[in-house]
Amino acid sequence: MKTKLGLLYGGKSAEHNVSLQTAKAVTAALDLNKFDVYPVYISIDGIWTEGGKLEAPAASIEELQLTGNGGTEHVLSMLAQGKYDVVFPLLHGPNGEDGTVQGLLEVLNVPYVGNGVLASSAGMDKVIMKNVFAQAGLKQVGYTHMTRAQWEENKEEACKTIESGIGWPCFVKPANLGSSVGISKCQDRNGLMNAMEEAFQFDRKVIIEEGVTAREIEVGILGNDHPACSVIGEIVPKKDFYDYKAKYEDGDTALIIPADLTEEQKREMEELAIRAFRSLDCSGLVRADFFLTESGGFLINEVNTMPGFTPFSMFPLLWKEAGVSYPQLIEKMIDLAIERHTEKQ
Ligand code: ATP
Ligand code: MG
Ligand code: MG
Ligand code: MG
Repeated sequence: MKTKLGLLYGGKSAEHNVSLQTAKAVTAALDLNKFDVYPVYISIDGIWTEGGKLEAPAASIEELQLTGNGGTEHVLSMLAQGKYDVVFPLLHGPNGEDGTVQGLLEVLNVPYVGNGVLASSAGMDKVIMKNVFAQAGLKQVGYTHMTRAQWEENKEEACKTIESGIGWPCFVKPANLGSSVGISKCQDRNGLMNAMEEAFQFDRKVIIEEGVTAREIEVGILGNDHPACSVIGEIVPKKDFYDYKAKYEDGDTALIIPADLTEEQKREMEELAIRAFRSLDCSGLVRADFFLTESGGFLINEVNTMPGFTPFSMFPLLWKEAGVSYPQLIEKMIDLAIERHTEKQ
């Protein structure tokens, strides 16, 4: 019997296009002898459309941007009727990676790939995530946060507080996003003003962090109650930092796999990554991102509960090096989804 897989992609988020690129690659990798794949496109306006059973891998991103076919209500009733054995929410950012879609699937009792409601929502909000990491004794950069309302109240005062508390350089980020969207590095007051305005375009809450000079080291984790680490990799951005363009457009950022680390450093980082995974009660998969400072200490930057997932993204490449091919990785994630669902019953 084939597994009926609902593939959710697109989404109401600034990472919509990233998700579309990934969906194309995933449809190409899925073995259609094992899976009946039902693509479900979520438009940028949040309309859900199911395209019917996939007969061949999508030839283009445009082909995946479905319209018609009854819209959101139709898909929701298909979900509620148990049409799909498992759903793969291939969504990044708010309204997809943040626990909202996961909550919907929980209520409808549908098994789904990736993290549950709590880990997804806590992992999406960089402030909450860092607070949890602090509680778990994980070292990280200094940070503070501000809502749009606080910022609008007195921008001068807000800048002074950030300058004295965080200093230069600092990174300003929308609290709930990914793919470096809306992130700026600031060297002075003027830069900070612009960065705050930019970040508030994407979120009502912004995090401001101390900027560190460090190597960027990442590891993949797979598993539910028995999480395991992939090979460890390093990112070497050619620019000032690993921004959206470097991630998805320039393609000239070097991904070094495996990262050049001592055995002791590898063990330490794996231990920290698993601790981070458990602190947020993650399941399925995450990519944990660290800074390795000049003094040799690891600082956790974040975990991504649905990391970039094209065949050229860090997470699949790290598993490939560990001996798990892209199609095998997708199947493993689907198995983990069903395992978690079964264990909860
Ligand atoms: P993604 O989810 O795609 O990994 P993101 O939007 O969650 O990205 P971060 O990973 O937090 O954003 O930051 C993006 C990049 O900005 C990092 O890979 C790094 O190059 C740089 N960066 C972020 N925070 C800092 C910091 N505190 N100090 C130095 N560099 C930083
Ligand atoms: Mg992230
Ligand atoms: Mg992300
Ligand atoms: Mg990151």
